[in-house]
Amino acid sequence: MKSARILAPNEPLAVSESETPKPQGLQVLVKVNSVGICHSDLHLWEGGYDLGDGQFMKVTDRGVKYPVTPGHEIVGTVEEIGDGVSEVAKGDQVLIFPWIGCGECPACTVGNENLCDTPKSMGVFQDGGYSDYALIPDSKYLAKLDGVDKDAATSLACSGLTAYTAIKKANQNSPEFMVIVGAGGLGLMGVQIAKAITGAKIICVDLDDQKLDIAKGMGADFTVNSKDPETSQKIMSICNGKGADSVVDFVNAPPTAKLDFAILRKRGNLVLVGLFGGSIELSLVTIPLKSITIQGAYTGNYADMVELLDLARKGTINPVISKRYSLDEANNALEDLKARKIIGRAVINP
Ligand code: NAD
Ligand code: ZN
Repeated sequence: MKSARILAPNEPLAVSESETPKPQGLQVLVKVNSVGICHSDLHLWEGGYDLGDGQFMKVTDRGVKYPVTPGHEIVGTVEEIGDGVSEVAKGDQVLIFPWIGCGECPACTVGNENLCDTPKSMGVFQDGGYSDYALIPDSKYLAKLDGVDKDAATSLACSGLTAYTAIKKANQNSPEFMVIVGAGGLGLMGVQIAKAITGAKIICVDLDDQKLDIAKGMGADFTVNSKDPETSQKIMSICNGKGADSVVDFVNAPPTAKLDFAILRKRGNLVLVGLFGGSIELSLVTIPLKSITIQGAYTGNYADMVELLDLARKGTINPVISKRYSLDEANNALEDLKARKIIGRAVINP
C-alpha cells in the first residue's frame, strides 16, 4: 500500500510503499476513498501546540511516535475482513470512528472513547488515512454510509462530530444569541448544526469575508469580521447590549479568547474547541460575579457520529468540500490549509 507519512515535525511528508496488512480477528481492511484534511493534521505536522509565553507542548510527550500516517476523517470501502467480523462485508461503504480508546477507563466504559485516558486515535497515535488502505482494529468502529456522499461524510468523523458535541454543550443554557468564532472546517459545520438543533440567533466571526458570506448562506443570522477594531461593540449591540448567552470558539487563540470573555453575558456559557493555542490573563472575579461556565469540547463519541450521519442523510447538514487532492499532493494540501486557502474542508482521494 501507498501512504503519505510524517517522518518528523516540519519535514515534508514522504510517500512510501509498504506491505498491505491482512486483517485478523475483528480487524477490517478498508480501501480509502476519501480522507479529510483537518487543521489538527497541521498541529501534528508542526509537532505540537503553542502553550503561550514561548512554551510548546510536544505531541511526542503525549504519546505520538513518528513516522506516522496522518488522517482521521476516513471514508472507504471494506476490502477484507478478519474471521471474527460479522457486521460488515466486502464492498460496504463505511465511515471510520477514529477516536479509539483503551476500552477500560471511566470514559471508555460509558461510550466516550474520544475522552479516553490513554487514547489510540487513528491518524494521531496509530496510522491513519493518508493512504490507499487503512487497517481498522475492530469492526465496531465502522458506520455504514447508506447513501451519504463519500467525500462529504469524511468531515462527520471529526469536524462535524466536534462541532456537534460543542454546539450541544453550548445549547445547554437555551441561548438566545450564540456566537461561533472561526468559519473554517469546524466552524461552518457548527453554523449548520446550530441552525438545525438550537433556537439561537447565530453570530459568526472570522477574519475572512468570503468565509463569512458562506456562513451566512448556511444559516448565520449575523456575521462580524474580527479585523474590525469595534468587533466586541458590534456583537454587544446585536445582543441588545447584554452580550451572548453562548460562545463556541473554534480558534481558541489569545485574540479570540479575549473577545469571547468580552462578549459573554451574565450566566454565559463558553465552549473552547480550537487548538490554535497560546495563553491569556483572566480577570478571576468576573467568573463568579457573572456566574459563567467555561468548558472544553474534544471530538465526540460513536453514537453522536451515527446521529450526524443520519442528519447528513436527511440533508439537514451539508458538509462543504471545496477541494480534492491526490496522495502525492498531501504536502500542497496541508500548505493550502495553513495559508487559509481552503473553504470548508478539502479531502485527499488516494
Ligand atoms: P481551519 O483552518 O479550517 O479554520 C480555522 C478558521 O479560523 C479559518 O476560517 C480562519 O480564518 C479562522 N481564524 C483564524 N484565526 C482567527 C482569528 N484570530 N479570529 C477569527 N478567525 C480566525 O481549521 P479547522 O479544521 O476548522 O480547525 C480549527 C481548530 O480546531 C484547529 O486548531 C484544530 O486543530 C482544532 N480542532 C479541535 C478539535 C477538538 O476536538 N477540540 C477537533 C478538530 C479540530
Ligand atoms: Zn480533525
